[in-house]
Amino acid sequence: MPAKPKEPKCSYCGRGASQVQALVPAPDQKSYICTDCVNAIHEMIVEYNGDTLGEKKHSKHIGKNLAEVPKPAAIKAFLDQYVIGQDDAKKYLSVAVYNHYKRLLQPDNDDVDIEKSNIIMVGPTGTGKTLLAKTIARLLDVPFTIVDATVLTQAGYVGEDIESLLTRLLQAADYDVERAQRGIVFIDEIDKIARKGDNPSITRDVSGEGVQQGLLKLLEGSIVNVPPQGGRKHPEQRMIPVDTKNILFICGGAFDGIEQKIAHRMNTHVVGYSTDAKHKRIDKKDFMRYVAPQDLKSFGLIPEIIGRLPILTHLEPLDRDALRKVLTEPKNAITRQYKKLFEMDGIKLDFEEDALDYIVDKAIEYKLGARGLRSIVESIMVDAMYELPSKNVKDFTVTREYAAKKIEEAHFEAMVK
Ligand code: ADP
Repeated sequence: MPAKPKEPKCSYCGRGASQVQALVPAPDQKSYICTDCVNAIHEMIVEYNGDTLGEKKHSKHIGKNLAEVPKPAAIKAFLDQYVIGQDDAKKYLSVAVYNHYKRLLQPDNDDVDIEKSNIIMVGPTGTGKTLLAKTIARLLDVPFTIVDATVLTQAGYVGEDIESLLTRLLQAADYDVERAQRGIVFIDEIDKIARKGDNPSITRDVSGEGVQQGLLKLLEGSIVNVPPQGGRKHPEQRMIPVDTKNILFICGGAFDGIEQKIAHRMNTHVVGYSTDAKHKRIDKKDFMRYVAPQDLKSFGLIPEIIGRLPILTHLEPLDRDALRKVLTEPKNAITRQYKKLFEMDGIKLDFEEDALDYIVDKAIEYKLGARGLRSIVESIMVDAMYELPSKNVKDFTVTREYAAKKIEEAHFEAMVK
């Protein structure tokens, strides 16, 4: 009579397969562990690690633990690779983002609730607000979307419902709600939804104060029903609930004319506290660095919104020196991008220093700022990009004369007027 095959046993508790829920074999298939022992070991580890494991469990949920989140100085160093200048804004953003992640890593039962560090950046158009937000999102590898506040209107009016900005975030996260809930939303042109004047409106203000009221609940953190395809909410459309508690909102706006509000506030302040300082003169463009929440209120943001955007920072206008750097220094600087394009055709592209100065001169002359640099370079390069790939050319240098000729031929002046 053949011997009865031996029943496999748990190598830890010695019980056989018939006495336990399941046995998990080791890779050598010779020893086993039962599910009860796996659970017991897990509990031992939890007890041993105490809070540390609690944090890890939590962080697994958000995909990071604090050791993995870059420190503020490292965040700034990363931003430095892509954005020229704007040191103040970079510093504020780095700290805000670091604290945001600390907040996400807080265990649920912590007695101190860290508040959300939504950010508002004030500064002229084309100085790098969007670029900063985009670069942060790239560093953190979280879903990111840009929404223009001007397209938003209060529910029921022509325009996009406020919830639609979360639709875009969901799309950026490939409809992974968990991921979207840790994403970053950049709301551009927040200044365009300022209410007209500092007084509460008498008439309905559907694209101003109405939108601000609508944004409140998103900024502070609540569960919002989002139409997956965006647009208007239809009763028959299935909604996706999205919790905005951990979504970081970064707002940007030019706030044209806010310098006057700052100056006004500072004058009264100065007169009130010191007679000497009354004579202190501040250059108009430097007022921005003194921007304070009350100036945003004078500009027409409602206090509740300002309260939910606790980090306020400013961006400086880019001077000639900064514009010149924008052309060549960032990791994906415009000239580097064109060099890459030509390299793919086996052509070595160079820009003479003089040509770069000329491009900056034109951007300043036409008051196009950094945003205009790209269109100027594109106008200069389009003919070369059209002709050279079909010619046997190995290198190409853009001189000042070549750049000037192309800008003249393109009637650039007429295009930007
Ligand atoms: P804003 O959001 O402030 O209006 P953007 O960030 O959209 O301006 O800037 C427009 C473009 O100008 C960017 O894509 C970038 O190429 C360039 N740019 C603007 N500011 C900077 C900067 N500080 N450093 C590098 N590039 C910049």
